[in-house]
Amino acid sequence: MRILASGAGRLFYVSNPDSDFHTQFGFISRHDLKNAGDGSVVKTNTGKEFYVFSPGFVDLYRRIKRGPQIVPLKDLGAVVSLTGIGKDSVVVDAGSGSGAVACFLANLVKEVHSYEIRPDFFKIAEENVKRLGLANVFLKNRDVYEGMEETGVDLVFLDLPEPWKAVPAAHSSLKVGGFLVSYSPTIPQVADFVSALGSKYMHLRTIEVIERDWEISERKVRPRSVSIGHSGFLSFARKIC
Ligand code: SAH
Repeated sequence: MRILASGAGRLFYVSNPDSDFHTQFGFISRHDLKNAGDGSVVKTNTGKEFYVFSPGFVDLYRRIKRGPQIVPLKDLGAVVSLTGIGKDSVVVDAGSGSGAVACFLANLVKEVHSYEIRPDFFKIAEENVKRLGLANVFLKNRDVYEGMEETGVDLVFLDLPEPWKAVPAAHSSLKVGGFLVSYSPTIPQVADFVSALGSKYMHLRTIEVIERDWEISERKVRPRSVSIGHSGFLSFARKIC
């Protein structure tokens, strides 16, 4: 894949350099695309210039195939920063859905083990893991409420309709001091999840990450009129015994 950046801040993704690439500013010939390397400038037939570079992880990640709704990056940022997971961490994720969380975290940690009950979503997640070339994601087409195979885990991340049902499985899987994080769109889910934690976990906090995009165009500097609405609440707990 190649990325074409226009001066106006738009990125175009070229997945097939063997055919001409069409934009609203005209097209770039396959011949020019084939010969372009990082840092090259290519021109459309109407003379508009584009700057070429290779995709980074986040560019490939943004292009993954979508099944169910994925967790937005703003929320994943909070999970990574508040749990401090890193290159030595082992993570369990459920449900895999499109595999977005599994893939995002696998780029940062040692291993991600991810559970998905639906065969169709399991397939999408498998495809995405393959596309991103991640060798440290282990997908399981299983009901996570019935148990997790892994032990001594640093983080269990739940994005499930009934996360409270996964609390016992997470407890056997986590190491003492490990984090249990649940992502839910509604507050009744949060309330039931936190009640299910009991005395073996410490509920640290439940947060909502609010992100506001700004428009910056010379002196017209203001919040964008349309931005992401609500995504979900993140509840953080730690296994204490
Ligand atoms: N976090 C994912 C999206 C998860 S959507 C992402 O970012 O891509 C919730 C997923 O949980 C759905 O795919 C659903 O099929 C799955 N699920 C629901 N109950 C489950 C269970 N008991 N075990 C495993 N997966 C389950």
